[in-house]
Amino acid sequence: MDISHRRTKSDMISSMPARRYSTREARAAYVDRRLEELYPNPAIPLDHRDAYTLLVAVVLSAQCTDKRVNLTTPALFALADTPEKMAQVPVAKILEIIRPCGLSPQKSRAISELSRLIVERHGGKVPATFEELEALPGVGHKTASVVMSQAFGQPAFPVDTHIFRLAHRWRLSNGKSVEQTERDLKKLFPTERWNALHLRIIYYGREHCTARGCDGTICEICRHLRG
Ligand code: SF4
Repeated sequence: MDISHRRTKSDMISSMPARRYSTREARAAYVDRRLEELYPNPAIPLDHRDAYTLLVAVVLSAQCTDKRVNLTTPALFALADTPEKMAQVPVAKILEIIRPCGLSPQKSRAISELSRLIVERHGGKVPATFEELEALPGVGHKTASVVMSQAFGQPAFPVDTHIFRLAHRWRLSNGKSVEQTERDLKKLFPTERWNALHLRIIYYGREHCTARGCDGTICEICRHLRG
């Protein structure tokens, strides 16, 4: 009897996807490749004209959707689209415009103050270092990472809720904090992939990862990595 086409038990086990993706590195390589196929040219989601308008938009995006921010920023930037002009606008006026984005008292104060400091400390130009950005009010490491990556093209891996959740679902990180997850992801992916990849994961998360209480068996990449 010709048994050349019969698959032995060990053949079957060795060809199972679960074995192919038994290491973080193998899972990362698959995620990187598949996301590039799905989102070849990921656009920056927040509308902006330059580093300053991006910085303001990112500050506004805390606990707010990008869509809502994009509906709000045209009126704000019509009033003031440079740090010099914004520093002259009363905080109450900024607050009135940005109210739909939520947390408006804190965000309006931060936008006013960071604009004044960019003029005072940096001659009106948004600084292009993590240290200087994170020294501005309302600017944490994630905001600084978005600006460094999307405005200045410097390698950064801002971790938002989508990236945090999917990094765990895809078993790329078991870090309890966003800081640890960021470190894990930076180790797994080549530096030159970070800027497009973080956007791709966000797009995938927004498109697919909306199910509450999901057991990780619904969407394509989660299913594929589980085998
Ligand atoms: S299967 Fe879909 S909804 Fe569930 S964790 Fe994965 S991406 Fe999110």
